[in-house]
Amino acid sequence: MASRSTGFNSGLDIGKSYYVATANPAPDHAALAGDVEADLVVVGGGCTGLSAALHAAERGLKVVLLEGGKIGWGASGRNGGQMIPGLRKGARGLVKTFGPERAKALFDLAFEARGLVLDIIERHAIDCDLRQTGHLVGAVNGSDMRDFEEEAECLAKVMKFTDVEILSAARARQMVDTPYQGAVFERLGGHMHPLNYTLGLARAASAAGVVIHENSVAVRLEREPSIRVFTDKGSIRARHVVLAGDALLKGLEPRVNSRIMPVGNYIAATEPLDGKADVIPANVAVSDTLFVVNYYRKSADGRLLFGGGERYTPSPPADIAGFVRPHMEKTFPQLKGCRIDHAWGGLVSVTTSRLPHVGHYGEVYFAHGYSGKGVILSTLSGKLLAEAITGDASRLDLFSTLTPLPFPGGTALRGPLYVLGMLWYAMRDRLRH
Ligand SMILES: Cc1cc2nc3c(=O)[nH]c(=O)nc-3n(C[C@H](O)[C@H](O)[C@H](O)COP(=O)(O)OP(=O)(O)OC[C@H]3O[C@@H](n4cnc5c(N)ncnc54)[C@H](O)[C@@H]3O)c2cc1C
Repeated sequence: MASRSTGFNSGLDIGKSYYVATANPAPDHAALAGDVEADLVVVGGGCTGLSAALHAAERGLKVVLLEGGKIGWGASGRNGGQMIPGLRKGARGLVKTFGPERAKALFDLAFEARGLVLDIIERHAIDCDLRQTGHLVGAVNGSDMRDFEEEAECLAKVMKFTDVEILSAARARQMVDTPYQGAVFERLGGHMHPLNYTLGLARAASAAGVVIHENSVAVRLEREPSIRVFTDKGSIRARHVVLAGDALLKGLEPRVNSRIMPVGNYIAATEPLDGKADVIPANVAVSDTLFVVNYYRKSADGRLLFGGGERYTPSPPADIAGFVRPHMEKTFPQLKGCRIDHAWGGLVSVTTSRLPHVGHYGEVYFAHGYSGKGVILSTLSGKLLAEAITGDASRLDLFSTLTPLPFPGGTALRGPLYVLGMLWYAMRDRLRH
């Protein structure tokens, strides 16, 4: 797998990622050639698209999936692998925006993602280094603790959810060897090898009858008289289309694109640290309370996989390892000078509300913009799309009400305006930390 390069989604050094180096063997899928017909055409071979395809095929539809590059080489196969139940917006934010009843319904639906992913992993025997060890959020600032307490109170009161624990600084230090002011521990979180999960999902989809084409970029979408998706070598006519290209979809459907902003995010994998430094004795997934969040975990072979630093320009830093290292060494000074074996980046698609953009325009269905919390949510969104396409839109409709506002400034200005906003928050991080 490591040697197979591809043009479309191969940017930001994905070929040098730890995940590609340790990917399970997977078949190549031939590019689309000629004109074919299906019930459903899915654009995008990440977890959203594969899950939509798998669940639609299980419900009897003839499904063809187009992936512009290789399966899993978008965000799904290069992310931090942190399985964090829920939405990016916290319980209090949901209650404030939607009121307690709808907030609870949204929370419960989003929470289903965890069970769904665990079930798929078990049912399809996906070997993806699953660790159900929990997720810890470390408080960088003392005031974060008050925030944690209020959030836990709202979770208990409104969502009837009590699987979180507030930890003192000393208790947090036993789990992660860095001096947080305290932490909140989400027992039902965990981590996994995201590329191997995505490849497993593709295997399950193929087995259910989905026809997958790699190196097949959808370049045009025709809506009338019926749905037809074109690549440069063929086309697929279908009754429905799912757009699951996330940050890479670009101009295929402008109404969808104006609501997400791609942000470059970078990860480094150290040399195996076993016997040298155990920086996460509890082997939990960890993130912190900075706006430009640091997130990290151990790999199955004892490396630290550390994500830190964002860039709001389209191009990656010349030296990704050198870009991530200061963030890692600030969190773990004990790792100063340790070897970094892999470094890569990906595009996180964020929305104005930090809630996903899910829904449909007629027979054009879409889901994207998980704002950095899509590892498990993407699989659920795909299932909700399949449910709606096969006749039950009730749960998709609930998620569709999340619709974030478009980014201000239109096509020309939304980038620069967003960058200004982000830089302000990044500066605030530096003042707080
Ligand atoms: C560096 C990084 C770290 C992250 N860490 C975490 C984390 O730890 N926890 C968490 O919950 N979330 C994390 N995320 C977010 C999470 O990875 C994403 O939300 C999720 O993977 C999105 O899945 P997807 O299937 O919607 O999109 P993708 O996985 O990006 O898949 C989209 C696919 O569509 C294809 N495509 C696009 N346009 C076309 C086209 N025109 N024709 C054909 N194919 C096309 C692309 O090639 C790509 O393969 C991270 C993201 C990144 C980038």
